[in-house]
Amino acid sequence: MTIQFLCPGCEQVAYLQLRLLPEAWNCPKCGKTLTPIPQEKLSEGGALIRCAICAGERFYTQRDFNQRLGCLVAGVGAALSPFTYGISLLICLALDGGLYFLLKQATVCYRCGSIYRGVARNPEHGAFDLHTAEVELQESKYVRRGNS
Ligand SMILES: [Zn+2]
Ligand SMILES: [Zn+2]
Repeated sequence: MTIQFLCPGCEQVAYLQLRLLPEAWNCPKCGKTLTPIPQEKLSEGGALIRCAICAGERFYTQRDFNQRLGCLVAGVGAALSPFTYGISLLICLALDGGLYFLLKQATVCYRCGSIYRGVARNPEHGAFDLHTAEVELQESKYVRRGNS
């Protein structure tokens, strides 16, 4: 499992291999230390239930889509279509659609935006939901106020 998150110190993108947990993580850019939550507390039956970075419990899933690859495939199809009477475009669009379904899901934390890859999909996690994002935002504001 790999986590892609923003360092709370400098907001640079950082990566964390979850098998290294619960060792403290040091930001290579600003030196901030972070102690992620131990892996056994993160998942239940292999599915993610808690964020290692912010302890948030709401997630959504998104396709880990390589946008550039998709455009490239469609572009090649379009470039070849004058020679193949448009058939190559159709084939490449089909290929593009195929890629779309084959791509893996990534799980994203609503609260801190950390992206989890190589984790079992929790059936309770759905697509991004604006209402949930707002609830999470209000809640995190409340938590922050409560702590200060
Ligand atoms: Zn940092
Ligand atoms: Zn989080």
